[in-house]
Amino acid sequence: MSTTESLHIVCPHCHTTNRIASANLSAAPDCGKCHRPLFTGHPVALDEAAFEKHIARSQVPVLVDFWAPWCGPCRMMAPAFEQAAQQLEPGMRLAKVNTEEAQALAARFNIRSIPTLALFMNGREVARQPGAMGAADIVRWARSQRV
Ligand SMILES: [Zn+2]
Repeated sequence: MSTTESLHIVCPHCHTTNRIASANLSAAPDCGKCHRPLFTGHPVALDEAAFEKHIARSQVPVLVDFWAPWCGPCRMMAPAFEQAAQQLEPGMRLAKVNTEEAQALAARFNIRSIPTLALFMNGREVARQPGAMGAADIVRWARSQRV
C-alpha cells in the first residue's frame, strides 16, 4: 500500500464524499464541504437517502445497527455500539438505521429481528449478526470479518 493511496470517506454530517489519503485517515480529517470532522467517535444515524450514499460510496466498511426505539435489547446495546465506534473508527464507519422510520430498508435487507448488525463493503452486505452484543464482542466480530 503506497502512502499516496486515498479512500472515499462519506461525511456523517452532510453526506458528501471526501477523498482522503489513507495516511491521513487517523489524523482527524475534516469534511471539505461542511468542515466538520469526518469521524466523531459516534455512530451516525442514517435515513434511507443517507444510507444509500454511505453504503454505495464509502471505501471503509460500514457497520450498521438496525434497531427500533421500542426494542429493549436495542436500547441496551446502544451504549456498547457507541463504545465500539470509538474503537473501530476510522477503519470503519458505524451507523444506525431506525427500522421504524426506514421500513423500506428493513424490508429490502430482510431484517427479521432487531437488533441486527450488518457489515457493508463496496455496496454490498458481507456479514450479519442478529442479537444484542457488548462492546468488546461487537469490536471482535467486526474485526474478524474479511473486508
Ligand atoms: Zn460534511
